[in-house]
Amino acid sequence: MFKLMPLNYQYNDLEPYIDAKTMEIHHSKHHQTYIDKLNASLKEHPDLLNKDISELVKDIDSLPESIRISVRNNGGGHYNHSLFWNLMTPDLDQQKISDNLSKLIQTNFGDFKTFQEKFTESAVGRFGSGWAWLVSKNGKLEIISTANQDTPLELGCNPILGLDVWEHAYYLKYQNRRPEYIDAWWNVVNWQEVEKRLNK
Ligand code: MN
Repeated sequence: MFKLMPLNYQYNDLEPYIDAKTMEIHHSKHHQTYIDKLNASLKEHPDLLNKDISELVKDIDSLPESIRISVRNNGGGHYNHSLFWNLMTPDLDQQKISDNLSKLIQTNFGDFKTFQEKFTESAVGRFGSGWAWLVSKNGKLEIISTANQDTPLELGCNPILGLDVWEHAYYLKYQNRRPEYIDAWWNVVNWQEVEKRLNK
């Protein structure tokens, strides 16, 4: 069975950028619901309950047809959120971007500001619900966005940084002001984790 992992920090630790109530509901209700629904839909396929979540969502077309939609939505939801929590941190050291990573971003996007603008544009521009991503593909860094709970894995991309732009991620504090939420979120990015993912 898939299980909800606790956060590495407290629900109120990302204040004032991400409020405690949003974190609590997002983690303990939304993420938990994806996991519960995923487990329920795999009842008839116990072998799949032991798979690594990234393996499960990577090749949805290879799965039995009756569970594809649930794995896409609920399995994707579990995978994406598991990444998302670890990509944020209240720890000031983890929020520092290393020279090595800075240089890589410069090589791929010109400079950090351009990268940040492009990522933000992708996150603001995602119509409806979805995610913005920094991914690595064939040794290059790219910015993409996915709809709903679709993951970059399906597109052959390795997600390095991800931002949830579903309204449930920001509505309590920011209501319709998605760009404000995104601006605030940059303050809590765990660049150490980003680099770890890049080196994987
Ligand atoms: Mn979410």
